[in-house]
Amino acid sequence: MNNNCVFCKIAAGEIPSFTIYEDEEFKVFLDISPATRGHMLVIPRTHCADIFEIDAGMCARLHKLTVAMAARIRGALNTDALNVLQNNGPLAGQTVRHYHVHLIPRYENDGADLIPAQTEVSGSALAELAEKLRRPLPGGHQ
Ligand code: AMP
Ligand code: ZN
Repeated sequence: MNNNCVFCKIAAGEIPSFTIYEDEEFKVFLDISPATRGHMLVIPRTHCADIFEIDAGMCARLHKLTVAMAARIRGALNTDALNVLQNNGPLAGQTVRHYHVHLIPRYENDGADLIPAQTEVSGSALAELAEKLRRPLPGGHQ
């Protein structure tokens, strides 16, 4: 547990939250400032700041739970439109440095603005970029 981390405190029950689901590894609770009705967060109990720190196996289990929570949203809130959002680092808009996945149900005219702006890039620039990104990192990680 990280004593300066608000989500560690929520996971430990030291800060109250509107819990939707919990088990020994994960907790799901309502976002305190929701983008839309039903906006919830899925977190691991173990502190890890972001995608670069989280254990890959734990991350896979967390995303399996995310799929289950999406089904729950669809059943309970009667919408099959949903954004899954996961921010890493302040530049990407991460304000709480404990890995979390946002589940944001969407409704007609809900006013939420979550779709990234589109840019125009040449085919040659994309080809060069793809070539760079295709190269595996040394050390075994793909
Ligand atoms: P991010 O910008 O991806 O780091 O998202 C952090 C999210 O955590 C924001 O949507 C906040 O509204 C939410 N949040 C911060 N503190 C709390 C809290 N105590 N309980 C529930 N949600 C929180
Ligand atoms: Zn934490």
